[in-house]
Amino acid sequence: MTPTWAQLVYLACAVGFILALKGLAGPRTARAGNLIGAGAAVVAVAMPFLYLDLDHVPLILAAIAVGSLVGVLGAQRVQMTQMPQMVALFNGVGGGAAALVALMELEHMGAATPGFDLAATGFTVAVGAVSFAGSAITFAKLQELMTSRPVVFPGLPVLFGLALVAAVVLAVLVVRDPSVPLGVALALVGLLLGVLLVLPVGGADVPIVISLLNAFTGLTVAAGGYVLGNVVLLVAGTLVGASGTFLTLLMARAMGRSVTSILFGALRGGSTLGAGVASDRPVRSGGPEDVAIALGYAERVIVVPGYGLAVAQAQHTLREIVDLLAERGVRVDYAIHPVAGRMPGHMNVLLAEAQVPYEQLVEMGDINPEFRHTDVVLVVGANDVVNPAARTTPSAPIYGMPILDVDQARQVVFLKRSMRPGFAGIDNELLFDPRTTLLFGDAKESLAKLLAALKAL
Ligand code: NDP
Repeated sequence: MTPTWAQLVYLACAVGFILALKGLAGPRTARAGNLIGAGAAVVAVAMPFLYLDLDHVPLILAAIAVGSLVGVLGAQRVQMTQMPQMVALFNGVGGGAAALVALMELEHMGAATPGFDLAATGFTVAVGAVSFAGSAITFAKLQELMTSRPVVFPGLPVLFGLALVAAVVLAVLVVRDPSVPLGVALALVGLLLGVLLVLPVGGADVPIVISLLNAFTGLTVAAGGYVLGNVVLLVAGTLVGASGTFLTLLMARAMGRSVTSILFGALRGGSTLGAGVASDRPVRSGGPEDVAIALGYAERVIVVPGYGLAVAQAQHTLREIVDLLAERGVRVDYAIHPVAGRMPGHMNVLLAEAQVPYEQLVEMGDINPEFRHTDVVLVVGANDVVNPAARTTPSAPIYGMPILDVDQARQVVFLKRSMRPGFAGIDNELLFDPRTTLLFGDAKESLAKLLAALKAL
């Protein structure tokens, strides 16, 4: 029995997790929310040492030390642009850990164990394994350890179907006659399912699958919490499961896709990616001085930040340019597309880091009517989120994705290094529009030159 005082502490931790989520919902409170969540997690992890008579304490402490070291080093070294794969890795490890715990619990279970407990254990083993293997594949795709294109082979749907049936059969067997070997077999089938689930997902859809697997891990941990009779795991898992599900749906909506088309689109034959080759059609390129004149003498400018800004780490220089333009009396805003970059909120975090006032960041719905009254749009390292093919070309992989209506402005300036396409791998007609100027080069260098040219105006 958990003593009352410990139950109260667990309750406080659960409330901490809820407050953390609430805090994370807004940029001003996100840092505090993160700290509250981390604090509650530390307390929850420390609790069993305080009231339980634990075996193998040195081993547990050693495991915690190794895990903390890897976590701290990983978090310190990871680049902003590698955050999605970091999330995938941590998420997968969480699912795998829950599956292992459930496997070990099976050893203490028998015919007398209530059926619901056994079902929850089987669920934790299977779905935890799916989440672990699926996350490992998404990590490999995003880290470019393997192709990020959809991987399909003949018979994949049949194999997937068979694995699904095998998982259900094994789960039923675990409930009827629990044993560790059966649990191991279920975990192996779960691993196969995880791999087969994620292999056909490609390109821009991969981060959405991470969020989906995150939801799976949440449900696994919640079921694990039920099995272990641990309320704080149950609450934390449910919160992760619910928020992961919402995030998946919101991201899918922001990209104009359904979750089923993301998971099974490639199986039906439609690749989620374009060819990804650089176009050799003629474009109009300009120098920093030309762009400085266009910006410096405009009345209204909108900046569209994208993934390339994050790669180049050019957010500070960009802010300096915007400040300088504001001093010259130009009205400037940043247009924030919900999936600009490689994870939700990527641009908000990046620009907040450069101390850009939050009021200058305008959401897609609010900024879109403004483009037609805008003199110059400065697109910094963004491509897919301004590609009109999303509106006009039904065969395009991004067709249906809501975009920033940059093509309605009087003039557009793109800062990019080459004619290579964006993440979706398709051409952007806006690059070839007579109103468009390209300033080629790394965003940080181009923006530094642009800043110097603006100062010289
Ligand atoms: P894109 O990937 O479409 O385009 C990025 C552009 O940046 C490219 O044109 C690239 O061109 C340029 N670039 C790269 N590095 C640099 C650099 N160092 N300096 C200058 N330019 C650079 O990014 P968007 O932000 O427009 O779109 C995001 C994509 O990610 C969408 O397809 C979206 O669906 C997807 N996605 C986003 C998620 C999210 O939550 N944010 C989740 C899932 C998917 P070049 O190589 O020529 O420099």
